Amino acid sequence: MTESGIIGMLHLMGVRNMRVNSAGTGVQADCPFARWRHSDGMDRKPSFSIKIDNSEKSVGYCFACHTSGTLMQIVKDYGDLTYAENVIEYIWENENYKEEYRDKSWGRRLDWKKAKWLLGDEGRGIIAPTPIEEVVFDESKVATIPWDNIERFLKSIPQYVLNRGITKETAQVFRLGYDKRRLSVLMPVIDRKNRLVGITHRAIRPSETLPKYLYNKGFHKMNFLYGENLITQERGDIVLVEGQFDVLKVYQTGLNTAGTIGSYLADIQARKLIELLPRDSKIIIMMDGDVAGKKLTDIAYEKLKEKVPCIKRFVPEGKDPGDLSEKQIIELVNRNELK
Ligand SMILES: [Zn+2]
Repeated sequence: MTESGIIGMLHLMGVRNMRVNSAGTGVQADCPFARWRHSDGMDRKPSFSIKIDNSEKSVGYCFACHTSGTLMQIVKDYGDLTYAENVIEYIWENENYKEEYRDKSWGRRLDWKKAKWLLGDEGRGIIAPTPIEEVVFDESKVATIPWDNIERFLKSIPQYVLNRGITKETAQVFRLGYDKRRLSVLMPVIDRKNRLVGITHRAIRPSETLPKYLYNKGFHKMNFLYGENLITQERGDIVLVEGQFDVLKVYQTGLNTAGTIGSYLADIQARKLIELLPRDSKIIIMMDGDVAGKKLTDIAYEKLKEKVPCIKRFVPEGKDPGDLSEKQIIELVNRNELK
């Protein structure tokens, strides 16, 4: 690939530090994979070099992490890594990590339209992951999963769920299951058209190597609200929470509830909430009692306040709504803001 093609390509991969070598035969750049493959997540050398030639096969190599391949392979590799981040969110106990991760995940993503243009015909063959922000949500095109795929897990409920104050009835309503091999609670995500659209594995014993939540590949959590299938006119106000267990607990109070499935409320989710809100009802924003939860409260409030009646409620510091009893949730919901 030509010099300008290589520079354009690296730029799309988020690389800002690059230069052409003095002989004009190659480009030296910060390694596009540093974030994943360098021990400190950075490259200050720069360590990555790629050969300029007029064939399609410019070869690149990193002296630090030893990633190598043709530019095409490198682009595909990079695309797979960023795509994986879009579909599998690692929500750790450590809030700092959560924050740091979130900032990264909203940042650099390969712009595939531009990438394809640069790569020409060969590039068009790559299955392009679409950045979530650009997805126009068409409910008729949602990828659904056959129930058969998970039927075998739905025969039992782990004791862990009951220990968290969730009743058997609630577990059945949400169709929770138990994946004994992975030691996780299986939590189907069912959309408002009652289709199985995602599968969550909630690790019963999360660890440094095992994230708390894992989603199936291809699940765009920002298109759905956990519990959206169960919102009814009779239940009235919708309590908006973050996590799946918060949804289960609030459901037991008799109110409507929906979960953002993560620390963000996407536009599609906000639009759905507005559409699903029963007549003469309001949205009660009740996020986790931590820094991320407070930020999300503001994000949600700003997106919703002009369109629907909406109030904020704060759970005690360090707690999630799922940690509260049904009585405490109701008290918090009904608390007079002026007191
Ligand atoms: Zn490298």
